[in-house]
Amino acid sequence: MNERIYMSSPDVGELEEQYVVAAIRSGWIAPLGPDVDAFERELAERVGVDHAVALSSGTAALHLGLLGLGVKRGDVVLTSTMTFAATANAIVYAGASPHFIDCDPESGNMDPSLLRRALEQFAQDGVKPTAIVPVDLLGKTVDYTTILAIAAEYGVPVLCDAAESLGATHRGEAAGSFGHASIVSFNGNKIMTTSGGGTLLTNDESLAKHTRYLATQARQPVVHYEHTDIGYNYRLSNLLAALGRAQLSRLDAMISRRRSIRDRYRDLFARVDGVEVFGGEDDSEDNVWLTSILVDASGTGWIPSELTAALATENIESRPLWKPMHLQPVFQDASATVNGSAERLFETGMTLPSGSALSDDQIEHVLATIRDFVETAR
Ligand SMILES: *Cc1c(COP(=O)(O)O)cnc(C)c1O
Repeated sequence: MNERIYMSSPDVGELEEQYVVAAIRSGWIAPLGPDVDAFERELAERVGVDHAVALSSGTAALHLGLLGLGVKRGDVVLTSTMTFAATANAIVYAGASPHFIDCDPESGNMDPSLLRRALEQFAQDGVKPTAIVPVDLLGKTVDYTTILAIAAEYGVPVLCDAAESLGATHRGEAAGSFGHASIVSFNGNKIMTTSGGGTLLTNDESLAKHTRYLATQARQPVVHYEHTDIGYNYRLSNLLAALGRAQLSRLDAMISRRRSIRDRYRDLFARVDGVEVFGGEDDSEDNVWLTSILVDASGTGWIPSELTAALATENIESRPLWKPMHLQPVFQDASATVNGSAERLFETGMTLPSGSALSDDQIEHVLATIRDFVETAR
C-alpha cells in the first residue's frame, strides 16, 4: 500500500526545526517567553491589527473572544451553520445559544440576506443577539463589507472566525483584521500550524488585555494570586510560538504551493462535465486552504462518495464538506435561519488533498486516480 496521502498535513521542515531547537536552547520552555512576544508582534503586523494574543487553540480564542464581547449565560449568538463544530461549541462554553445562519451557495459563507432576516426576526421578538460570528469557509473570507454593515445597523458586535483564512484578503484587507476581533487557528491541518494553537486579533487594547488576563487564570497582579474572575489556562507555549514564527515566515510560499495544486485540479475538472471547483472562478483573494469540488450527479453519473471510495483504495484521504451545524444531533434544539443551501453543499461537495506538504509525485498520483475514476465511471 502507498503511504497515506492526507488532505492537509503539517508542512514543517528544517526551518521549523531550527526555530524550535533555538527556543529550547534559550531555556524558555514553559508557557510564554520571547518567542510568544515576537510571534504576537509578527502576526499583528502581518494582519495589520494593533494586538495579537497567542492562545492554546482557535477554540480557546473563540471562547475568550466571546467572553470579551460580553457573551454570557442565556444570550443568543448568531453564527454560520456551515462551519466546524468548534465555532458553535465555543458559543455554548460561554453559556449562550447558537442561532445558525445558512450560506450563500457559491462560497458557503454566511448569507447576508439571511443574517438580516434573522436579526429582523429577533428584533420583532424583542431579543438582541450579543454577537455575530461569521466564518471564513475553507480560506475564502465572508463578504465583510455587507455583513459588517448589517451588524452595525443592528448594533451587534462581530467576532470573525478566520481559523481557516489566515493569508486571505477581502478587498485587499487581511483576514483576521475584520470585526471587533478575529480569531485564527494553528491546528495541525490548517494553512500554518504550531501543532496546536490559535490567536485573538484586535485593535481594541482593553479586549486584548482582558483576553491575556483570562487566558492566564485571571490572576490579579499581586504576589498571592488574588482572583476576582474565573480564569482559563489558554496561553500558547513558547516552544510552539517558535514553530509558529518559522511557519509564518513561510506562509506566502505555502499559499502559493496550495494555489498551484488548486490550479492542477481546475485543469483536470475543466474537462469533466458536472464538476466545478468550489468557491467560484475567482480565488485570487483566498488562501486556498482546501480545494473542494461540487458534483452534479446528473452531469457526472457519479456521486462524491463514489470518488471518495476510489481514492480510499489508493490510500488517499478525501471528505465531504462540513456537515452543517443545524443538522448535527448535538445542536438539534438550536434555532436556525436556513434555506437548504448548506445542506446541498454537504450533499454535493467533497474536499481533496490540498496541503502544501504534498510532493509532486503524490499530487500526480491523486490526479491520475481521479482521472481513472472519471474515465471508468463515464
Ligand atoms: C479549526 C477551526 C476552529 C478551531 O481551531 P482549533 O485551533 O482547532 O481549536 C474553529 N473554527 C473553524 C472554522 C475551524 O476550521
